[in-house]
Amino acid sequence: MTTTTNMSTTPSMSTNMPSIPGLRLPRPSVRDLVPYEATEPTAAIMLSANEAPETLPDEVLRELKAGLSDFAWRKYPDPLARQLRALIAEANGLEDEQVLLGNGGDELILDLFLAWGGKDRCFLNLPPTFSLYEIYAHTTETRTVALPRDRETFAVAVDATAARLSAGDIDLCIVANPNNPSGNMSAEDELQRLLETSNALICVDEAYFEFSRRTMRPWLDRYPNLAILRTFSKAFSLAGLRLGYILASPEVIATLAKVRMPYSVNAFSQWVGRVAYAHANLFEPRIRAIVEQRDWLYTQLDAIPTVEVWPSEANYLLFRTTNAHRVAQRLLQDYDICIRDFSRAAYLTDCLRVTVGTPAQNEAFLQALRSIV
Ligand SMILES: *Cc1c(COP(=O)(O)O)cnc(C)c1O
Repeated sequence: MTTTTNMSTTPSMSTNMPSIPGLRLPRPSVRDLVPYEATEPTAAIMLSANEAPETLPDEVLRELKAGLSDFAWRKYPDPLARQLRALIAEANGLEDEQVLLGNGGDELILDLFLAWGGKDRCFLNLPPTFSLYEIYAHTTETRTVALPRDRETFAVAVDATAARLSAGDIDLCIVANPNNPSGNMSAEDELQRLLETSNALICVDEAYFEFSRRTMRPWLDRYPNLAILRTFSKAFSLAGLRLGYILASPEVIATLAKVRMPYSVNAFSQWVGRVAYAHANLFEPRIRAIVEQRDWLYTQLDAIPTVEVWPSEANYLLFRTTNAHRVAQRLLQDYDICIRDFSRAAYLTDCLRVTVGTPAQNEAFLQALRSIV
């Protein structure tokens, strides 16, 4: 299986690919790359991929069922998803030309690297963070400069990052906000400082915006080098559909449109996205419930003496415990609960990430964890 989930480990590089008689080797940058690993164990309680715990609201499902037989399956999709684009532009107070849809946020991240990365270009990464950034930097032969976040709080090292940007050789920087997997956010004025320090394209990855409710959108008019990434995968219960979007200046959008695959956002995704987005209000109570559950789960985890948990503004919590790898294994084997194991990832020793699920799932996870640690 090669689906993508939101792993945030540093990509591990294996030893060189063996050469096969009769087959020419691929590009050097691809030979030693390990694919963004996503095969996850199946468990009764899946709290590992930051997916929504519920399916689409009934009203959305009803509308989709009713429209299914008239759907224009035989026609090519609109390459720019103009109807959905208009809905998103309007909701964000932007022109249509400031929105670009993609096959999941992941595709748009690749587009950023195709347009702003490449040979002799430089990407500034702020680990530990979403691992896909570094993988795409590697595949596009973009040099990665890494400025680690604070070891205790996972805050962006703003002074060091601004200083590094001011050197002038950085082409692209991505700041996950909230950060995955740590859940913390950078303040608006800190991000502004980064945006003002250089003309590098700075993408603020707001994949969890619906949970944090904080956005850099108000600054789009001021900073031509700001791009905002969002997704339907998390708050909109549509990880399986593959739909994400970027908000930016018309110039950034037009540049990304040059490198993107024209038909990457299929007609079905465009339609489902439209129906879901038009009913965004129906997702509000669910989002509120997840935020409440997250804060409750935080206090519960915080009360376990052997657990250190970080505050989060997303739909997951990062925590540290001794023998974390063993803990994750036991959760899976003895309790049929799958969470994300970062215990061996760089900067994340003994860290695990749990997605906020339904109250019953969260309760089951806590009880299991308490009896293990
Ligand atoms: C989930 C996620 C995305 C986008 O995911 P898609 O499913 O490809 O839309 C982007 N960035 C971060 C940090 C994420 O966690």
